[in-house]
Amino acid sequence: MSRTMTTAEAISEARRCLNCARPTCRTGCPIENNIPQFIRALSEGNIGSAYEIISERSNLPAICGRVCPHERQCEAHCVLTKKKCGIEIGSLEMFVADFAHDNDLKPIPPSTGQRGRVAVIGSGPAGLTVAGDLAKMDFAVTIFEAQSEPGGVLLFGIPEFRLQKDVVRREITELLHLGVEIRTNQLAGVDFTVDDLFAQGYDAIFMGTGTSLPRTLDIPGKELTGILTATYFLRTVVLADSGKLDESETVLHTGDNVIVVGAGNVAMDAARTAVRRGAKNVNVVYHKSEDHISALPSEYNAAVKEGVQFNFLKQPMAYLNKKQMRALNNIRRHPCKADETEVAGLLLQNITQTADGQFIAEGGQEVMPCDCVILAVGQKPAARIVSTTKGIQVDDRGFVITRERPYGMTTRPGVFSSGDVVHGPATVVLAMKESKKVAAGIAQYIDAKKLLADCVE
Ligand SMILES: Cc1cc2nc3c(=O)[nH]c(=O)nc-3n(C[C@H](O)[C@H](O)[C@H](O)COP(=O)(O)OP(=O)(O)OC[C@H]3O[C@@H](n4cnc5c(N)ncnc54)[C@H](O)[C@@H]3O)c2cc1C
Repeated sequence: MSRTMTTAEAISEARRCLNCARPTCRTGCPIENNIPQFIRALSEGNIGSAYEIISERSNLPAICGRVCPHERQCEAHCVLTKKKCGIEIGSLEMFVADFAHDNDLKPIPPSTGQRGRVAVIGSGPAGLTVAGDLAKMDFAVTIFEAQSEPGGVLLFGIPEFRLQKDVVRREITELLHLGVEIRTNQLAGVDFTVDDLFAQGYDAIFMGTGTSLPRTLDIPGKELTGILTATYFLRTVVLADSGKLDESETVLHTGDNVIVVGAGNVAMDAARTAVRRGAKNVNVVYHKSEDHISALPSEYNAAVKEGVQFNFLKQPMAYLNKKQMRALNNIRRHPCKADETEVAGLLLQNITQTADGQFIAEGGQEVMPCDCVILAVGQKPAARIVSTTKGIQVDDRGFVITRERPYGMTTRPGVFSSGDVVHGPATVVLAMKESKKVAAGIAQYIDAKKLLADCVE
């Protein structure tokens, strides 16, 4: 996990870099940031030049410095990592980006917008990357975002303790300096359609709408109150923290017993947030064994350290209400209406892992009491745009189908897409990597279209 460094610490860390002839750190970075060059500039004390080098490939360095899984990417490939003293590349990237913001460095001039007009739907890492790259290529870009503020999961998903919202807002402001226009409270498929945008004269349209529909568990008791999805929970916390939602509407109460279902990074964020919101006990329930969890080891270890309890090899079978819990425990009490409407426990099937690695239901069942269940079992795309636009095909799970040439174009000519809505829930930097290629595809498409139009005239 990245840490904040002083200037002296950052320069001395940069000076440890071996300047390898074959810099494997760069190959470990999905967007191929020129890591050796920026570290060299930093080691010479030239922080402005280090920022300029980073800005060539990334529009979101302060964010990437904080939330990229560096331990699996650039830092994993640093030759010093084998000797357990790898360069802290994520912390250096974060230092350089923060320094540039603090000192108002703007290495890239704003777009003149002369090369063409592009509408970008969605302002998560995918939309922001496409917008930034196209502005740098001299296109006029307008972002249409459904929420009241841009940022997607960066703003409304990843919790404050891992990614400060002022950092997200600051980094998005840099896009405004590049000439990108952002319109919020604009829900594509409801407030306007893709065809409306073409009619307004946009040369191409980009969809970076992510996976906004959370998956749930289709088990008995799913209608009880107190069962919520992790993305909803995290969003309400951001809204409450920024004063846009009353605390009483955030569902979780101090002293609650919370169960989080799932063991990916989203589950870790939900569990750690529940601890910070004053939950008495936070239990993560996962149907496989510890070595199968998809959360980063650093996130898992942080959750364990903060007191989150992990219950592996347990499959949720049914949500139980208070009345059912009392019956199980042989407790008699005067009944009230909430007894049958609020979740009070989770029935779990124990799972056994066989010698050949299969997971089978074996070992009986148990009941875990709770006041609240948070589901972190995956997300899928909403269909607002594809259902209101002719010609955009999706696969059988609802993910948008795109082509290789021009890169990222959907089955509807002129409409492009990338990020989670294409490849499924993944990482910020994967959405950025794909979106950089799609930005190049959009530029190629618009240039070709204009050239053809010139030939016909
Ligand atoms: C809780 C959580 C924690 C995570 N932590 C990390 C992490 O630490 N590191 C990491 O690398 N990755 C992390 N991820 C994954 C990462 O955030 C995503 O892979 C990434 O945000 C995907 O980017 P995107 O732009 O495709 O989608 P999103 O970030 O989901 O952005 C989509 C945007 O489109 C907007 N939108 C949707 N539909 C419409 C519409 N019809 N009209 C207009 N706008 C629309 C949405 O409001 C949203 O702003 C996390 C994800 C979650 C949920």
